[in-house]
Amino acid sequence: MRQYDDNYRHKGLRMQLVKLLREKGITDEDVLKAIEQIPRHFFLDSAFDKIAYEDRAFPIGEGQTISQPYTVAYQTQLLQIKRNEKVLEIGTGSVYQATILAEMGARVFTIERQKKLYELNKNFILRNRYPNIKFFYGDGFEGLPTYAPFDKILITAAAPFIPPKLVQQLKTGGYMVIPVDEGSAQRMLRLTKMPTGELHEEAFDQFSFVPMLGGKNG
Ligand code: SAH
Repeated sequence: MRQYDDNYRHKGLRMQLVKLLREKGITDEDVLKAIEQIPRHFFLDSAFDKIAYEDRAFPIGEGQTISQPYTVAYQTQLLQIKRNEKVLEIGTGSVYQATILAEMGARVFTIERQKKLYELNKNFILRNRYPNIKFFYGDGFEGLPTYAPFDKILITAAAPFIPPKLVQQLKTGGYMVIPVDEGSAQRMLRLTKMPTGELHEEAFDQFSFVPMLGGKNG
């Protein structure tokens, strides 16, 4: 069951969450504004209502999780989103991250490999407010060649390697933000596609994501 009442308590908890994210080092005001706007509890079962604004990941079914708000903010900040940019997201999950991108004015193309999550979440409650999110059921390793190239690509699962087809679908000068496996954790990388086609790599902190798996499920 879900509960779609956004009251003053929820809004207050979001303001506290934004304060915490600032303390943890998030500085992009557009990212913080989006987190303050979006009711994260709408993306979770009502059993999580009281804790939806804690800085934690939570289960969303099918063994998957909604990312921790700090992780969402961190990845989004690295992407440096500008209005109207075309953004490919791998791993729709709860749609929370996609909604943050859409609130910032991006045109979001999001892919999910779990059929059940795709079916459930493409009809999420805020779909009329965010017609700039397009949902796809498929394998993120393949990307969306029909809609390429993308200004930005975001991977929200632990990638075993940098998927070559996604590099092809990235614009020159575009960013890919991707957590790449290093055994027990993943290193957050920001890759910039150079005019030569080569990738310029910047490495950031370590995170822990659910795995990016090949093929579709369901
Ligand atoms: N962005 C999500 C986080 C979801 S967790 C959110 O805001 O809630 C990662 C998601 O990636 C899971 O739903 C998982 O099923 C999906 N996933 C894993 N491998 C994938 C792949 N190859 N293609 C598409 N989705 C994938």
